[in-house]
Amino acid sequence: MVLDNLSESLKSIMRKISGSSFIDKDTIKEVTKEIQRALLKADVNVKLVLKLTNTVQERALNEKPPAGMTAQDYIIRVIYEELLKILGTDSNFDLKPQTIMLVGLYGNGKTTTAGKLARLFMKKGLSTGLIAADVHRPGAFEQLQQISGDVNCGFYGEKGEKNALKIVRNGIKELADFKIKIIDTSGRDSLDQELIDEVHEIKEKINPDTVLFVIDATLGQQAGPQAKTLHDAVNIDGVIITKMDGTGKAGGALSAVADIQSPVYFIGTGEHMDDIQIFNPKKFLSRLLGMGDIDALMEVVKETNITEEEAEASLDKLMSGKFDLKDMYDVWEKFAKPGLLKKFFGALPLGKMPGGNKLDESQLDQADEKLRLYRVILDSMTFYELENPDVLNAKRIKRIAAGSGQGEKNVRQLLKEYNAMKKNMKSIKKNRNFKKMLKTQL
Ligand code: GDP
Repeated sequence: MVLDNLSESLKSIMRKISGSSFIDKDTIKEVTKEIQRALLKADVNVKLVLKLTNTVQERALNEKPPAGMTAQDYIIRVIYEELLKILGTDSNFDLKPQTIMLVGLYGNGKTTTAGKLARLFMKKGLSTGLIAADVHRPGAFEQLQQISGDVNCGFYGEKGEKNALKIVRNGIKELADFKIKIIDTSGRDSLDQELIDEVHEIKEKINPDTVLFVIDATLGQQAGPQAKTLHDAVNIDGVIITKMDGTGKAGGALSAVADIQSPVYFIGTGEHMDDIQIFNPKKFLSRLLGMGDIDALMEVVKETNITEEEAEASLDKLMSGKFDLKDMYDVWEKFAKPGLLKKFFGALPLGKMPGGNKLDESQLDQADEKLRLYRVILDSMTFYELENPDVLNAKRIKRIAAGSGQGEKNVRQLLKEYNAMKKNMKSIKKNRNFKKMLKTQL
């Protein structure tokens, strides 16, 4: 996992929030201070950090959590939302046939990234060819040629030719049959005018579909001025941050590129050709906060302080087919920590629900949000109703909808799902393997 230290600090802050019995001014101040320290250590831009922590503090002090949501959960949500602003909104790289121009300084990983992208695109079924237009760095031609051989993609270059534009023109013609063409342009030690002019000319004359800026995460704050200068020269469409594996300071590059408001599309996480990841801010942040993968599942379960016996008892209830809404509420209270349900079912082979129903990715995505909402509704029911779901008639549903502010449709949907769950659980009652598997996941 990249940004390990930041992740550890943020996770411990999250644990502290959810474990605190009440939230007052002092807690909020303490928490924001800790966030500040963690982000600054990861080299996130000071101005951004101050802005973020001020906003978190202000929101946490002044906003009221929606009905049914605890103050603790609400602060976690506020922190999540504000951190996401630094990472940028979700914008997926469009996997369509195109010409991509890579720009960036020496040693930032441009050439390596060209190979990684070629492999990634080819895996997605898009034939790819690389064009060696770095006419300055000795050995750049050979390096790209070698990489093309390694990943088995197309290649065009003119050894010894010094006119980058000419090479690119010829390359685009020669590689006409490839769906994606990637131009590896020249780099320099620093951003001098000659380099700016060269990439500017290629951009103007060739008009590539996408210009991607390749930047080394270890550069930290220096990424800012570089990004800005290149953005002014060629209008960067997106960013690839390399060497995320080698630094705890990637916050610098991440926040610096936030300045030019270009999305980070990919991150490089190692020297091998497979070490590239599509960057998704939400997923990245969930993982950073410990809400996103199976390892985190175990942590979250620990956080909930469920003993093995309790987990066993909950599972027994879950599968007895006799459980009422109160039991369901108890189970959810224990299991419905942020991200847990998704991880829980996501951990099952092929994402299969017990009983044979398939849970697809989008359902998993919605599950957490839904659980939050359902807890609000369940909070508005009386004990009697929770224990005797059958009494929930139209009048009661109306009252619960009004009390929870969630609308009758959602209340009915909850009941529908409760019934379906009950039926489902009954049908897998005898499936010992499933229970064993759930236990090992815990
Ligand atoms: P260029 O001058 O920008 O074309 O840079 P290169 O592609 O030659 O890369 C410079 C060095 O960085 C090489 O040793 C690469 O193996 C290494 N490198 C590139 N990307 C990554 C990455 O994501 N992680 C790590 N650890 N090393 C990388």
